[in-house]
Amino acid sequence: MSLLDDVARETLDAIRTRGTHRRMRVLAGQQSTRMLVDGRDCLLFAGSNYLDLASHPEVVEAAREAAATHGCAAGGSRLITGNLDLHEALEAELAGFIGTEAALAFGTGYMANVGVIPALVGPGDVIVSDRLNHASIIDGARLSRARVEVIAHGDIAALERVCGDARGEGKRVLLALDGVYSMDGHMPPLREMLGVAKRFDCMTLLDDAHGTGTLGRNGRGSGEHQGVLDQVDIYMGTLGKALGAFGAFVAGSARMRELFVNTARSFIFSCALSPPQVAAARAAVELVRREPGRRVALQLRAKRLRDGLAAHGIDTAPSQTQIVPVVIGDNAATMAVCEALLEDGFYAQGIRFPSVPEGTARLRITPMSSHTDDEIDALVAAVVSAIERHAPDLLEPHAPGAREGSFAATAGA
Ligand code: PMP
Repeated sequence: MSLLDDVARETLDAIRTRGTHRRMRVLAGQQSTRMLVDGRDCLLFAGSNYLDLASHPEVVEAAREAAATHGCAAGGSRLITGNLDLHEALEAELAGFIGTEAALAFGTGYMANVGVIPALVGPGDVIVSDRLNHASIIDGARLSRARVEVIAHGDIAALERVCGDARGEGKRVLLALDGVYSMDGHMPPLREMLGVAKRFDCMTLLDDAHGTGTLGRNGRGSGEHQGVLDQVDIYMGTLGKALGAFGAFVAGSARMRELFVNTARSFIFSCALSPPQVAAARAAVELVRREPGRRVALQLRAKRLRDGLAAHGIDTAPSQTQIVPVVIGDNAATMAVCEALLEDGFYAQGIRFPSVPEGTARLRITPMSSHTDDEIDALVAAVVSAIERHAPDLLEPHAPGAREGSFAATAGA
């Protein structure tokens, strides 16, 4: 028996008691709408390959070709030997896609947020963070050692007060926002929030991990969808979700790029993205630009799903996007619904604390652009049947749902 064993046992026992113990499922097959999940053939409604680009022939071919011409590794960090012609070409493409002067790739979205935030603010400065922001913003804020002001979701008055006070004291202020809330599927009121930030000359960071490629006329995300992309100083997008590759990027001014090349520790002290990843991402960006029909189809599928569930009295509010939650509340009931769906051949993930606040466990359903209407309808029928069996209270006309709790507590901010 070692100290590690003691620590592991104690922590895992506490997690089990709380009903939030997790294990990894094993998926096999081509990344697309249908995969083997723990050996069972399933329709996938749990991933973030929203536009079904991960296995697109052009994306796969670009990765294959880059491996042949450049090899499988960048061979170093960007500031030493890892800055390949491919990285520069991808970043130029990304800047063109988002409509900014420059872009800079990061290893992942998580790394982008934990690198960028401490590069902008430090001790004595202020970060204004929405209560529902992603863990990577929360962790970036903690790393920065700036004062974190967590505001209630969409609380414009609080935002004005915090920005006004901090700027009045001459402090640097960064407003960090998710463009699409990853567990609720809705967007913050960007026009109002960014408007306040600009009025007080605060810096703004928009984490559009789930909006990149899926929202907006040109796929530029939630900011474009709400017509306020020009109010965003730093746009963070991911390459591993709708773009079907891997990595992330920030887009903004050339000076912003130069700042992060010199100061973002997760950029400086880490290997560059590999050639196949970079080439795949570039091919995917080209597809997103060329085929707007994919994001239109995606949002239509999501609407069909929300409408189908609503017809059976199942609430998916506040979802406005391809992330469609059904808040069940209880951990065990949520996982029972998830398992029942798997038995019927549908994989939609049950999500519990700490990804969502305690008491708001949910089924998180994420359709893809290439699901058919019949597949969506079949999923709706399966969800209704699983809920009837494992969470029947949810179907009561005025069931005391856990939904209010979704906004009442914070996922660790
Ligand atoms: N921000 C948000 C809102 C996310 O949902 C995620 C991923 N779940 C990330 C950042 C992190 O992105 P990545 O997976 O590329 O690290």
